[in-house]
Amino acid sequence: MDVNGVYGGTACRWVASVRFSCKPDSIRLQKGAAELPNHKTDFPRNSAAARTGSDGHGSQQLKNQILLSLPRPIRNAVLSKSVFVELPIHSVLNEVGAPIQNAYFINTGLASILNVLQNGKSVEVGLTGKEGFVGVPLIAGFKTSPTRVIMQIAGSALSIAAKDIKAILRDYPALDRSLQRCSQELALQAAQTAACNRVHEIDQRLARWLLMSQDRIGNEVVPLTQEFLAHMLGTRRASVTVAAGMLQKAGLISYVRGQLKIEDRGRLENSVCECYGALKKQMGVWKSESD
Ligand SMILES: [Zn+2]
Repeated sequence: MDVNGVYGGTACRWVASVRFSCKPDSIRLQKGAAELPNHKTDFPRNSAAARTGSDGHGSQQLKNQILLSLPRPIRNAVLSKSVFVELPIHSVLNEVGAPIQNAYFINTGLASILNVLQNGKSVEVGLTGKEGFVGVPLIAGFKTSPTRVIMQIAGSALSIAAKDIKAILRDYPALDRSLQRCSQELALQAAQTAACNRVHEIDQRLARWLLMSQDRIGNEVVPLTQEFLAHMLGTRRASVTVAAGMLQKAGLISYVRGQLKIEDRGRLENSVCECYGALKKQMGVWKSESD
């Protein structure tokens, strides 16, 4: 794709087609999130380079599908206000009840949207990767997040301040429409996940999660522990162990040292519950209805 040019006016420099090169820095994210155990709120960020125009260290290819699908002027408007951030595993992007300081166009990795209960337990209600956007309440003019969004698999994103994305949304209806669609897709995921967690067996739910994850990260290896998967699937670790054992025994996956690997995607698709196909089908219908 030909989008060579200047990233952010005097900011980071495009170094190849859909690539940008910046110098990393470090920031602290949201207040309050730092108190959460085992959640990282510091991650490398290249805002300094974005302001100075340094071409600094390293380069990253733009992979976010929302940004790539936008006409160049709109994409450049977003990029001019964005900074590239590395997102280690368990980075907290949005926190329950906290003001949304930044929105994120996920570039690589996998973010999980969690519903957090009063007893501290959390259940995943959505997944998003390079196809997605974190900070959906901002689209509707809201300021706080009802969910916790954390990185399940380390990656990167284009981060943009809430006030900046709101201003750009006012100027560019096409971006607003893209993000509205993203919001609907996440709502669809949440609705399907609620039904799935209620009525489908754990091995089918695990298969659904693995397929959805692979679709987003493009890798057959999913680096997650079974304990973490139990949180994601709203069940006990023992149940995940049994389910993973069933899928492994059938030759569909392997599990070695905290890494689940999809060994036979075709048969895994045959063993998954209807939810995976229902989501893909609806997404396809909506895509065909998009102008
Ligand atoms: Zn299901």
